[in-house]
Amino acid sequence: MLLNTRGPKHGRRLLLSSVIRSTALYAVPSWIKGMETRSYRRSLESTHRLRAIRVCSAFRTISDDAALVIAGLLPIDEYAAIASDSFTASRQTNSTTTDQQSGLEHRRAWQSSLRRWQERKHGAVNFYLTQLLSGHGCFSSYLKRFNHDESDECTWCGAGIVEDASHVLQHCPRFDVERCRLQNVMGELVTSRNLIRRMTADPDVWEAVSAFAVRVTKVLRKLER
Ligand SMILES: [Zn+2]
Repeated sequence: MLLNTRGPKHGRRLLLSSVIRSTALYAVPSWIKGMETRSYRRSLESTHRLRAIRVCSAFRTISDDAALVIAGLLPIDEYAAIASDSFTASRQTNSTTTDQQSGLEHRRAWQSSLRRWQERKHGAVNFYLTQLLSGHGCFSSYLKRFNHDESDECTWCGAGIVEDASHVLQHCPRFDVERCRLQNVMGELVTSRNLIRRMTADPDVWEAVSAFAVRVTKVLRKLER
């Protein structure tokens, strides 16, 4: 089992986990109809979710969607459909129906929304960055939600200010120095809206956000103890 804070880095985790996907989808064209049965699909989805969590070093409380996006993976039924479509296309090139065509187009649209994130040539995710991106980590709002803390208030700001990933990233004065370093690299204020766009476009920004995540998470983890 891969540990969150030690062991292989993101690229190797992704490679190792692709073996699980290949094994899970072996001979998929012959059983893809079975994905319509909820219990069968759920069983594959839970293995795939675990795979995503191990790739991006997330806590198990993360949502399925967030885990997949941060890990850079598609949902398992998308992989199954792609594998099955490829097989079918190799057998019958000109006989796709309108429904099949529509399904293919939908899948292509879905895939393109993740493409920018997945096809970046830089940027590994890790335990610290995943916490900042998912909001699942050592933030008071998260700790309170899972009964590990009595209050979701920021211990630095007080006055009812909730400490979540967004507060830590954009506003909390406790991390002014770290934020200043990050914004110097970005050349603009960091916001939840420009974060992913800038990270995927610029390797230096990715590294700066990653460094910010490490410093912030380590400080918050110390306070948590
Ligand atoms: Zn604060």
